[in-house]
Amino acid sequence: MHEFDLIAVIRDRCAVAREDVRLGIGDDAALLAMPAGHILAVSTDTLVAGVHFPKSTRAFDIGWKSLAVNLSDLAAMGATPAWATLALTLPDADAQWVGQFADGFAALAGEFKLALVGGDTTQGPLSITVTVHGFVPDGAALLRSGARVGDGVYVTGTLGDAAAGLRCLEQGEGAAAGSRSTPSMSCATLIERLDRPTPRVAQGLALRGRASACIDISDGLIADLGHICAASGVGAEIDVDSLPTSSALLGLCDAATRQALQLAGGDDYELCFTAGDADAPLLGDLARSGCGATRIGRIVAGSGVSTRDASGNPVVVTRTGWRHFT
Ligand code: ADP
Ligand code: MG
Repeated sequence: MHEFDLIAVIRDRCAVAREDVRLGIGDDAALLAMPAGHILAVSTDTLVAGVHFPKSTRAFDIGWKSLAVNLSDLAAMGATPAWATLALTLPDADAQWVGQFADGFAALAGEFKLALVGGDTTQGPLSITVTVHGFVPDGAALLRSGARVGDGVYVTGTLGDAAAGLRCLEQGEGAAAGSRSTPSMSCATLIERLDRPTPRVAQGLALRGRASACIDISDGLIADLGHICAASGVGAEIDVDSLPTSSALLGLCDAATRQALQLAGGDDYELCFTAGDADAPLLGDLARSGCGATRIGRIVAGSGVSTRDASGNPVVVTRTGWRHFT
């Protein structure tokens, strides 16, 4: 199958009509109209097979996840998704695989009325680069640099599920190369969180003008909250006994393993944000947006992220997030 036939498969399955797309896939560049008074938020993420997702991951889920991780970055900025481009490197021209990949991408794109407006298709080891574009009113973006001493630290959803899902896969529940056996109920739920993260776009929008700083958790809570601390010139204390935990994860392992996954596991794609105490309705408003948030600690003077248990004793964490090339 020819490159142009593959592009046609992608274009047909990802069709989303938007008035601001003056020219989409098919010419040398897309032509896009910006709404007045808004700033363009742009973010790129690459997923490499075997690094960012297990090689056994279904094409549909790879399509979903490649867009989800990018939408998560827009969510963390408080931006409204609008457009995306897709650079696809494929080992072979497998139209069925590309069709399923496009269906997964389109399932999420449709939810946010996001238009795929262009891309590139090349041959090589499987790798997907998505660039997303979103709008935010001028001056309203959520930054990493606004946390202040005394602010609370919060996270949306639950932590550690995706990291636990990866463990389920590694521990023989479908570890055979390229295939997956039927996992237990808990593992199935956790693997779904790994394969199909939910970008917290509505929550990011609800936090505009209310959170003092925000980041999405891709590399683990400690690593990513550490970025807020560094950018804001502050420190943070986390109460490990307050970390929000799904029922699937709760029954799966002992507390120490669970906390290690929640603090340093990565791939959560939840939002971590800071906010002052004055905004009492904030948590209720977030809960009504479809995904609540939990207070997990506080911003303090100093630098770096420290962890303590319910009685205030320091907790030692051995792994602090996923890093490439180390
Ligand atoms: P050019 O050679 O001018 O770069 P291409 O032949 O690479 O153009 O692409 C033709 C059209 O298809 C362009 O509009 C491009 O943006 C789009 N396109 C190519 N690959 C993809 C893809 N994977 N997803 C979406 N659009 C794509
Ligand atoms: Mg090209």
